[in-house]
Amino acid sequence: MLFAAAAGLTVAAGQAAAAEPQTGPMCPTDPLAPLHTPKVQIDVQPRTDGSAASYGGMQYKRTPGLGPKDVALTIDDGPNPQVTPKVLTILAKHCLKVTYFLVGWYAHAYPGLVRQEADAGHFIGTHTFSHPDNLRRLSAAAAQDEIVKGFDAAEGALASGTPAEKAQLAPFFRFPGLNDTKDLSQWLAQRRIAVVGADFGANDWLNISPAAIEHRALVEAAEAHGGILILHDSHMHTAEALDDLITTFEQDGYRFVQLVPSPAAMAGRTPGAPILGAVAAADPRDAAASPAKGAGLLDRVLGQLKIWAGRLVAFGHWLGAEIGHLWAQGMAKLRH
Ligand SMILES: [Zn+2]
Repeated sequence: MLFAAAAGLTVAAGQAAAAEPQTGPMCPTDPLAPLHTPKVQIDVQPRTDGSAASYGGMQYKRTPGLGPKDVALTIDDGPNPQVTPKVLTILAKHCLKVTYFLVGWYAHAYPGLVRQEADAGHFIGTHTFSHPDNLRRLSAAAAQDEIVKGFDAAEGALASGTPAEKAQLAPFFRFPGLNDTKDLSQWLAQRRIAVVGADFGANDWLNISPAAIEHRALVEAAEAHGGILILHDSHMHTAEALDDLITTFEQDGYRFVQLVPSPAAMAGRTPGAPILGAVAAADPRDAAASPAKGAGLLDRVLGQLKIWAGRLVAFGHWLGAEIGHLWAQGMAKLRH
């Protein structure tokens, strides 16, 4: 039903994809934006070499359905209690729907924000549990554990949500740093998960100024001919840049679209049921990769150490943000 309702706006991945002239209702708070963000469907059908369906021209073929002036906004590394609400307000102002790639630790810490994202019609993909910078450096078991726990955390955050909110969880995964591996890609393919990379970014994770973020995004968009854009709602400068950035892109003739799972990608999946669950248990290769059966003691210990080191770093980020927030509140009180 979700997809039937949106069918008129949907471009199926794999079909010809010229941006159609804007028709239909416009956004009441943004005269340049449609009321409903056009959708581009992402399929999960593995590639012929057994690797996962993968999207984003930086590493893979350009996403079918994305025209040269189309921009699919994706937002990584949250949710963040200071930044995410501001970003959600700006997206709502522009009637713009996006696709999030959550860090599990934060989804677990701030489930209310995950529900708000889903409730607003954004789709939710995942980005590991603790955001190790490079899964290539982890053992297979440790990397898989990060991916599984990332989806677990997103599902846990949506567990108390409405059926409609649960249906916004997509079988989409983004590798931290876009550092994929062939083995993990195949492992994801067997679980009917799509890998979402990118066509361009804006260096916003470097904590550059809002003006620099907007400038970088425009330059990169022109070079990449639009495509999948990565921004981060883990940095306040991104929220500060976003309103102007969206308007400037619209004025430059770009059309924002939303990456959504295709009906085939959702076939057989029940909203709220584990995205990885049943398939993972049925795969005999898991036994070989499982730390309990396959790997040596040292590998197991190192794998667990790396996972906990990643969690410690994520916790440090969270604690730093919380202390900063409390400090700002305290200073604001002192000034009164
Ligand atoms: Zn990230």
